[in-house]
Amino acid sequence: MKKHYDWLIVGAGFTGAILAERLSSQMGKRCLVIDSRDHIAGNAFDTRNEAGILFHQYGPHIFHTNAPSVVEYLSNFTTWRPYEHRVVGFVDNRLIPIPFNLTSLEILFPKMEADRLKGLLIGAYGMEQKVPILKMRQSSIQGIRDLASFIYDKVFYGYTTKQWGLEPEELSPSVTARVPVHISYDDRYFQDRFQEMPAEGYTKMFERILLNREGVDVSLGTSFLDIGGQVSYDNMIFSGAIDEFFSYSLGELPYRSLRFDFQTYQQHRHQPAGQVNYPVSEDFTRISEMNYLTGEFSNCTTVAVEYPQSHVPGSTVPYYPIPRDQNQELHNRYVALAAKEAKNITFCGRLGDYKYYNMDQAVARALSVFQQIAANPT
Ligand code: FAD
Ligand code: UDP
Repeated sequence: MKKHYDWLIVGAGFTGAILAERLSSQMGKRCLVIDSRDHIAGNAFDTRNEAGILFHQYGPHIFHTNAPSVVEYLSNFTTWRPYEHRVVGFVDNRLIPIPFNLTSLEILFPKMEADRLKGLLIGAYGMEQKVPILKMRQSSIQGIRDLASFIYDKVFYGYTTKQWGLEPEELSPSVTARVPVHISYDDRYFQDRFQEMPAEGYTKMFERILLNREGVDVSLGTSFLDIGGQVSYDNMIFSGAIDEFFSYSLGELPYRSLRFDFQTYQQHRHQPAGQVNYPVSEDFTRISEMNYLTGEFSNCTTVAVEYPQSHVPGSTVPYYPIPRDQNQELHNRYVALAAKEAKNITFCGRLGDYKYYNMDQAVARALSVFQQIAANPT
């Protein structure tokens, strides 16, 4: 006889793991969590390499949030280690803070010119303000527009075309607005109130969320297609790609993929910051050095070099939904299809919602999905 579950949960990343934990611990539901990968934690997975270095297998993951409820929830499963991420960009043979800030200006321009430009920026926007580059390009002040063109060329254009295969204007403005020009000397990448990393890493935190939990079975190396008729279930959470679920019947949603080249060096430190961006030169976008992020030190160090690439369904990982209007419209059509044909399935998460979520947003979304389910129990 087939084993029966209240919930089949596809995906063991933040979305799936949190919903399994909530549904089982708060509502006594029996859940089966499956993931096509051979590990839990989704794209936040970290593990040790042959040199013993804890590294993020799917790219650098830095936790930051302004949402106390997200911190409160995750703190049930981890303690924290303070970490403020700093990024420099290799521009005109110099290293400048990214986001572009007043220090970046002072590094790239002679003092008198830098003072003039600072005066313009502070006069127009004030100190400690963040200005998206696409907005700054539309300033009514000629001097600011000229500076914006310079920053656009040196910081945004090359990086964005490499990362997305599209120009900044072809994407939702929210994409480049993630890294606004900062009228400030604050050189942190994020200004969120909470900037800390899970003290023992993400995977350890996920083990406590998901594993050895009453009412939760976990089956790794199992894709949704494999599970077929093997189990029965009443409801489903699907945190994979919604277009794949519907066999691309309305067309493929575009995603951007990446290739990571991990390199280990026999030295304590390889680069001057946790992340170095290459907005103008090179085929890769950024190099991240793991021991800055993890706070672990050893006599060797591992870096991840990120090469953006097209996504080919079935061959590459769909790391990024591509935020732009036509893609959102196609996603809306899939949501309408789901409402008609998949009433007992909740699509959520970065792939299920086709939204460029940070980790804290994925956590908040999962907690909110749980609240909706709890408010309408079946
Ligand atoms: P995922 O983590 O993608 O989990 C979905 C899981 O579902 C995957 O494990 C997948 O294998 C599984 N799955 C999919 N389809 C199927 C199927 N058909 N059958 C079985 N299993 C399936 N966020 C931050 O806050 N800070 C950062 O610094 C940061 N850096 C990032 C860097 C990169 C390169 C990337 C790609 C993302 C980064 N993020 C960062 C975002 C973060 O990874 C996501 O917000 C988070 O992982 C979303 O969780 P999720 O559960 O929705 O999706
Ligand atoms: N960006 C850029 N130059 C940089 C850093 C970021 O042009 O030096 C743009 C680019 O389009 C990038 C987006 O800002 O994709 C968001 O950057 P973020 O660091 O948030 O990207 P993620 O960590 O999600 O890959």
